[in-house]
Amino acid sequence: MPLEPQPGTWYIVVTCQKCGSTVFVFRDLTDGKGSINATYSVTCPRCQQKGDYDGRHYQHSHKSSAL
Ligand SMILES: [Zn+2]
Repeated sequence: MPLEPQPGTWYIVVTCQKCGSTVFVFRDLTDGKGSINATYSVTCPRCQQKGDYDGRHYQHSHKSSAL
């Protein structure tokens, strides 16, 4: 089940190496303050590409970013 990003909430995300979309891995309970020293196995919900990625912090904003 894909995550529904909530505005103002931090997430651990990765960037799909195939289609470049941002993939939400899980809710960042440290609000961006924690350090990430982990690699996550993620399947992209858009293109189904599976890979191992270094996670990064991401705060979802109210603004919709035009791609
Ligand atoms: Zn993808």
